[in-house]
Amino acid sequence: MPELPEVETIARFLREGGRGKTSIVGAVVAEVQVLWPQVVARPSPRAFAAQLQGARLRGVGRRGKFLLLDWGASGWQAVHLRMSGDLAVLQPGEVPPRHTRWLLRFVDGRALAFDNPRKFGRTWLVDDLGEVVGHLGPEPFDEHLTPQHFYARLQRHRRQIKPLLMTQTFLAGLGNIYTDEALFRAAIHPQTPARCLNATQAERLLAAIRAVLREGLAANGASIDWMYRGGGFQNAFRVYHRQGEPCPRCGTSIRRIIVGQRSTHFCPHCQVLVTCNPSLDGG
Ligand SMILES: [Zn+2]
Repeated sequence: MPELPEVETIARFLREGGRGKTSIVGAVVAEVQVLWPQVVARPSPRAFAAQLQGARLRGVGRRGKFLLLDWGASGWQAVHLRMSGDLAVLQPGEVPPRHTRWLLRFVDGRALAFDNPRKFGRTWLVDDLGEVVGHLGPEPFDEHLTPQHFYARLQRHRRQIKPLLMTQTFLAGLGNIYTDEALFRAAIHPQTPARCLNATQAERLLAAIRAVLREGLAANGASIDWMYRGGGFQNAFRVYHRQGEPCPRCGTSIRRIIVGQRSTHFCPHCQVLVTCNPSLDGG
């Protein structure tokens, strides 16, 4: 599933152009086609099409794993790619991908297609973006998210650190790949109760999260179990999908376990499980 670096990469290509396509900012919608009605979570597919008709794209952004298209007075379009979603810019005359769920044809002849073979992706068109992304926790690069603030937030949770980091209301943008990679770099076992981490570990973890995301962004994301976007971060994985291979730090075999129903990869030597006793420190 696309995580922060992959979604940001798609947003950047739509905004700035790339991969042989020019930016779509400024494009004006000539025609809206909803080919699979359930893809539009809000409003109705009919209202979605009517509202976007004639709209001009002002900008493209991201919040957590949501892509955000700013249509000015016509509202904000949020897109969640989920498992296999992709946004493709089509040149004039280009045939849309086979699993296109909605298509915006622009006045200049180009089009934007939401291609989604597995149908889990959704889109919203709202006036108030808070309706869709208001529940999200801070962005990992938010300057207000200091090590002290991050540590205080961790202290409030007894949950295991890995599923907590993937909880979008706690922190927005992380998924399975970048969480496993960040925990490895911070030398923290994925099943450590969040509140058992000390201030030093919290600081190290926040730095590791930012480091892996920065590397992922620089590589245009990872290309793995979802549609290929040309990113290369999969070549830099230290633990993710490397079970049985030697740990790059100590040589111990990387292990794969299930944590919070998700496949989890870690080094049992570098990431030792340490727990604390929550009942002794005030519950
Ligand atoms: Zn190791």
